Amino acid sequence: MALPTPEALALQLMALHADSPQPVALFDPNDVLCFANEAFCQTFHTRPDGHTRWIDMMRANLAQQRGNVVSSSDQEAWLASAASRRGKQPFRAFEADLQDGRWIWMSETTHANGWMLCCANDITSLKTDDRALRQERDKALRAALTDPLTGISNRRHLLQQLDQQVASFQQNGPSVALAVLDLDHFKCINDSLGHDAGDAVIRDFALKLQQSSRRGDGCGRVGGEEFMLVMQEVDTPQALAILNRLKDLVAVSRPLPEHAERGYTFSVGLALARQGESAEQLCKRADQALYQAKAQGRNRCCVSP
Ligand code: GH3
Ligand code: MG
Ligand code: MG
Repeated sequence: MALPTPEALALQLMALHADSPQPVALFDPNDVLCFANEAFCQTFHTRPDGHTRWIDMMRANLAQQRGNVVSSSDQEAWLASAASRRGKQPFRAFEADLQDGRWIWMSETTHANGWMLCCANDITSLKTDDRALRQERDKALRAALTDPLTGISNRRHLLQQLDQQVASFQQNGPSVALAVLDLDHFKCINDSLGHDAGDAVIRDFALKLQQSSRRGDGCGRVGGEEFMLVMQEVDTPQALAILNRLKDLVAVSRPLPEHAERGYTFSVGLALARQGESAEQLCKRADQALYQAKAQGRNRCCVSP
C-alpha cells in the first residue's frame, strides 16, 4: 500500500491534534500564534486571531494571574528575559508550573525558516522531589546565560549565538549583521545621579533593545553599558531600520521617575559579516565603527565599510 499523501497526513495530524489533551501550537517567524488546539487554547486562554504574538498572550495571562507561574515581581522584565531565550536554538524543552496547579514539560522546535512548534506534556504526577531538583538545575542553566541586572542574554550567550550564526553564514546560510551599542556619556549619569540611576537606565535600554529585536535575533548585555544585537537575514538598510526603531523608542524614554526630564542616548557600530570572516573579526569591525560613531559626536550609527 502506498503511503498517504503529505496533504492526507497533514489532515490526520490536525484531526489528532484537535482531539489531543496535550497542548499544541504553531507560531510563525514573527511569533504570531497561527494554530492552537483546544487544549492549548484552554491552558493559555487565547485563540489564534492572526495578530496575537507569544508575548501578547503571555502578558495578558500574567496580568490576570493565569497561565505560567512567574516568580519575578517585574513582569515586563520577566517577559523580556523569557523572550530573549525563545527560538534561539532548533530545539529546547523545559519544565513550567501553571497557575491552575498543573506542571508541564514544554518543548519548542524551531525550524530554520522561523516557524515554531510548541508542545506541552502534563507532568503533574511525576515525583515532586525530583521536580524541585530539576527546577534548580534549569534555573542554574538559565543563570549561566543571563545577565543578572537586565535579565537578557549575557556576553557568553550572545557570543555563542554569534559564533553559530557566523558559522552558518559561512556555509551559505542567511546573512548576519552585528551591532555593538554603547550608552553615551554614561559615566555622567552615574556620577551626577548615582549608581542606582545608572542601573535603571541600563535596565531600560535592555528592555527597549529586546522590544525592537525580532525573535530570531540575539540581543544581550556584553559589558557595563555595552550591548550587542545579532540580526539574521538583513541587509544594511534593514539593519539600520531596526536600529532606528530602537533609537525612536529610546528618544522618548524617561526611565528615572525622580528626574522626569532626563533621557539618554546611545551610539552604534554596525558590521555585516563577510565571506571568510570569523566572528572575532566581525566584532572587531563593529567595534571600530562604534569608535567612529563616538568620535563623530555620539547618538548615531556608523557602518563598517
Ligand atoms: P562614552 O559616551 O564614550 O561611551 O562615555 P561613557 O561615559 O559612557 O563611557 P565610559 O566607558 O567612560 O564609562 C562607562 C561607565 O559605566 C563607567 C562605569 O562606572 C559604568 N558602569 C559599568 N558597569 C555598570 C553597572 O553595572 N551599573 C552602573 N550603574 N554603572 C556601570
Ligand atoms: Mg558609554
Ligand atoms: Mg562603554
